[in-house]
Amino acid sequence: MPKTDMELLALSLPKPDQTMPQFPPAHPFDDDKLREECGVFGVIGVTDAANFVALGLHALQHRGQEAGGIVSHHPDEGFNSVRRFGYVRDNFTKQSLMETLPGPLAIGHVRYSTAGSKGAAIRDVQPFFGEFSMGGAAIAHNGNITNADALRRELIERGSIFQSSSDSECIIHLMARSLQRNIPERMEDALRRVEGAFSIVAMTRSELIGVRDALGVRPLVMGKIGDGYVLSSETCALDIIGADFVREIEPGEMVVISDEGVESSFPFRRKSSRFCIFEHVYFSRPDSIIGGRSVYETRRQIGVELAREAPVDADLVCPVPDSGTPAAIGFAHESGIPFGMGIIRNQYMGRTFIEPTEQIRNMGVRLKLNVNRALIRGKRVILVDDSVVRGTTSRKIKEMILDAGAAEVHFRIASPPTAWPCFYGVDTPQREKLLAATMSEDEMREHLNVDSLKFISLDGLYRAVGEAEGRSNSCPQYCDACFSGEYPVEPSDMIKKGFELKAAE
Ligand code: SF4
Repeated sequence: MPKTDMELLALSLPKPDQTMPQFPPAHPFDDDKLREECGVFGVIGVTDAANFVALGLHALQHRGQEAGGIVSHHPDEGFNSVRRFGYVRDNFTKQSLMETLPGPLAIGHVRYSTAGSKGAAIRDVQPFFGEFSMGGAAIAHNGNITNADALRRELIERGSIFQSSSDSECIIHLMARSLQRNIPERMEDALRRVEGAFSIVAMTRSELIGVRDALGVRPLVMGKIGDGYVLSSETCALDIIGADFVREIEPGEMVVISDEGVESSFPFRRKSSRFCIFEHVYFSRPDSIIGGRSVYETRRQIGVELAREAPVDADLVCPVPDSGTPAAIGFAHESGIPFGMGIIRNQYMGRTFIEPTEQIRNMGVRLKLNVNRALIRGKRVILVDDSVVRGTTSRKIKEMILDAGAAEVHFRIASPPTAWPCFYGVDTPQREKLLAATMSEDEMREHLNVDSLKFISLDGLYRAVGEAEGRSNSCPQYCDACFSGEYPVEPSDMIKKGFELKAAE
């Protein structure tokens, strides 16, 4: 009997490998956030480019902590690659290892898995490498290919042998089948078949390549260091290596950087930009610049808008650290209510507790956050957080604040209710597990058992990111699907189904 699409897809995916490490989240008790999946970085035209890439990936570690990889090229020694599980600082700091990645050209990738198996195998770690008749190429992908299931099935039927479960590997196989004469053109060919979100950094023996999908959902910027060039997910990673910001790669643009300079083209049909608005709210580092705006300043402005939309009488504005801090500063400034660090974050809660015991797990959020009792006692407290996903952490924080003697607890959230999953490179729980998917704002307030709960409106968020008219009166320049349910690229039923299976694991 012919197999169904889902059966074919299931057959093509590697089975869970008993030996593969099953990593907990970077912060084992920080699973109540949407999670950005990848960061990409590449450098050309500097001595020992891989050292710069390691530093860049370290600055992008917030975009993925599960694994990282670097590929370099040296004119005499060819391509070299190292891919490892764990933090960049634990893997790419040893001189003996970095010496195995020589050359003036290198790219790298940090990841948390989105497409591909959870608790991934090393074969899912990027960059991916392919050897073509005109030479090798490596690619690092941030985003999610929404037609990956159909592409994978077609490629397997035509003889491709996949090495990983990652949707990004489709790009390498599509390039292998292209009849174009050089690698950038083959990449163009391949990406014309791909739907969804992608910001890609790739390399050949002599070129560094950057590409963004036509909607520009995920970020990608270009910098300059000496005579060399840099491509990075965020500007904060340019700063760490002393590179100057040049410009953002535009939606639908491909840049090919070589000894000859930068060649730009727009190989895909141009559409209006739909950049991920959640990059402003949470994913990007506050010291990055997006669209000419400081992420920190945008988050502070979200707090200002929130204070205007949802004022409340209180004694103290307190951020849920660290991501709620800029919005809390904005809220306090606009409302005139004093700002205070009523919750202190333990900065050293990384993978210290790789396998926490049940007893330690029960301590939950207290391991990561502690209440500043002397500040909180007797006060009416406004807690400002960036988002509410499942609501589990919010409940625990409220209990800690009340235990510390707060008179009232009011939640103010710096994003609209997160009610829809993301299919563009962000790890999201199943829709039923999103608190806002099943409850009204009032029901959420009751569920969290707080004195008041308010989210910023979509219009308010758009004003904070610089759209003076808000969202309603302007053509949306952003993807806001996790708040609105309006997807700029409709995912296929199989992707939705695959998402449900993965999220249910
Ligand atoms: S759905 Fe859109 S706005 Fe939400 S996280 Fe995904 S890309 Fe960003």
